[in-house]
Amino acid sequence: MPTLRRRVAAVTAVLALSVTAGGTGTSAFADGGLHPGKSPTATGYGGAVSSVDADASAAALEVLRHGGNAADAAVAAAATLGVTEPYSAGIGGGGYFVFYDAGTGKVQTIDGRETAPERMPANAFINAATKKPYPFAELVSSGVSVGVPGSLATWERALTRWGTLGLDEALKPAIKVAEDGFVVDETFRQQTLDNKVRFSAFTPTRNLFLPGGDAPAVGSVFRNPDLADTYRLIARKGTDAFYSGALAEEMAATVQAPPKDPAWAPPASAPGTSIPAFPGYLTTADLAAYTTLDQDPTHVEYRGYDVYGMAPSSSGGTTVGEALNILEPFNLGGMSRPAALHHYLEATALAFADRGKYVGDPAFVDVPTAALTDPLFGKERSCAINPATAAAKPVPAGDVSTYDGVCPVTPALAAHETDTENLSTTNLTVADKWGNVVEYTLTIEQTGGSGIVVPGRGFLLNNELTDFSYDSTNPADPNRVEPGKRPRSSMSPTIILKDDEPFLALGSPGGSTIITTVLQTILNRVDLGMSVSDSIAAPRASQRNTASVTAEPGFISAYGIGLAPFGHKLVPAGDAFTSAAEIGAATAIEFGRNGRMEAAAEPARRGGGSAMVVKPER
Ligand code: GLU
Repeated sequence: MPTLRRRVAAVTAVLALSVTAGGTGTSAFADGGLHPGKSPTATGYGGAVSSVDADASAAALEVLRHGGNAADAAVAAAATLGVTEPYSAGIGGGGYFVFYDAGTGKVQTIDGRETAPERMPANAFINAATKKPYPFAELVSSGVSVGVPGSLATWERALTRWGTLGLDEALKPAIKVAEDGFVVDETFRQQTLDNKVRFSAFTPTRNLFLPGGDAPAVGSVFRNPDLADTYRLIARKGTDAFYSGALAEEMAATVQAPPKDPAWAPPASAPGTSIPAFPGYLTTADLAAYTTLDQDPTHVEYRGYDVYGMAPSSSGGTTVGEALNILEPFNLGGMSRPAALHHYLEATALAFADRGKYVGDPAFVDVPTAALTDPLFGKERSCAINPATAAAKPVPAGDVSTYDGVCPVTPALAAHETDTENLSTTNLTVADKWGNVVEYTLTIEQTGGSGIVVPGRGFLLNNELTDFSYDSTNPADPNRVEPGKRPRSSMSPTIILKDDEPFLALGSPGGSTIITTVLQTILNRVDLGMSVSDSIAAPRASQRNTASVTAEPGFISAYGIGLAPFGHKLVPAGDAFTSAAEIGAATAIEFGRNGRMEAAAEPARRGGGSAMVVKPER
């Protein structure tokens, strides 16, 4: 797909000011100008950022250049992504924020996951007439899928805990982009078209994202003055203006009575489309009660690196960590490429079996995080890998109650894996000149979230609750629906240290493929010796304990023949909701000697990402 750059008059103006104010006269950008051109790699010093979007990266860079730290810059970039990537992220959603503090040498995290409303019944997804779950296509565009949003509370918590700016300052670049607009590119138009049918069913969504009844044209300027006003309100009054007061009342009312156009009927292009727009359960009390959680990260050691990830309610840290422990006994770098990939695919199937069996919100479920990330447990699980043949899938879960690193003789337990996640979300990586690092994944779940814009407020509400298991009648399922619970996530923001110093920070969108994308990128870099940019660019495959392996076309053509003797069945990626056969859209920063930073984003996926550094290497 051709890529058009998003050039934003607003950001350009801010940057022009900054160059004068900064007095250096030196451009921060590869093209030597003031425009935030979209380059997927940047190497240099003094701070770096990588995201999917040039405006968001420019917002972070602007903050860094003015003396803000990585937490400040990450919040500025995230708020800007709420404008330019409104179908993937924003104040209507949630996410996980991981921070390496150069002062203490510690990695800490914030769980800003959406939460099920207190009045949500356990059978909320079940059709009373059929006793079966409603189809995802009906649940997604509804109030019932909307969880209490956590992003804004995350931004505030990150700034309070680690930042130097107030929320008002951190929101400034995003307000400018929302007010002045950004130039629509192919990706934005295509994502709008992918959502056109359901967006057209909700009046405020249609009015905002389908002006004149169509997706905005490539090259046109898209403005969101309602969102600019919402951000301004929050900048003036703080997060209370979101979690209480008029806006909270409007969000609750919108969820309880989704603003579906009564005259809407499926278009001729999509006959039979059913959008019941079920009412949801969100109340003002849920919003008032929302809190982020300060969490310790997960930690595993892998080939001398310390790998820190996101603990439950995300399954990212435990599943990436367990897979690394499973792979530790094998010399992947010394194998043929197909053999190394075979081990990668088998390891993730095993780790996904355990994720399905054991991981849910730890406030509701006793999650064995320590066992799942224990090298002895991983070693024992690695016994299940046959170096020559793929196991029949699904593989059963391991037994965390008894393990000793020796190949087990006890029968394994049944897995409870249902994959209900989809392929939206966005990710960003930021580092500052002091050595602080942020890895932040944020989402509204499906591309386009619930499809419901809060009238007059300029943002979409999430559909994160569809990350719960739909059939919630199984009491053994750790991810069943429960009121007040956080649905299990796959988001895997990861920070890796070597000798107590940052080595690599990375993350990706992509639903449950996030876990395999982050893992595959680590293996590419650490075991297979690729550069960080090549590690991201390399074709991907994802084995999530299913009969076939989801793979990008580039992976199938490169490794399909080599993997066939192992018995892996590769099928092209892509689903009914997206037109792209891609897996993930990663961002990363690698840290070298003397403060050198190599920021890397996607060269092609999602139209290509944007890496920038404060002082480019010459
Ligand atoms: N809802 C997913 C999760 O929390 C992320 C969605 C996506 O990346 O597309 O894991």
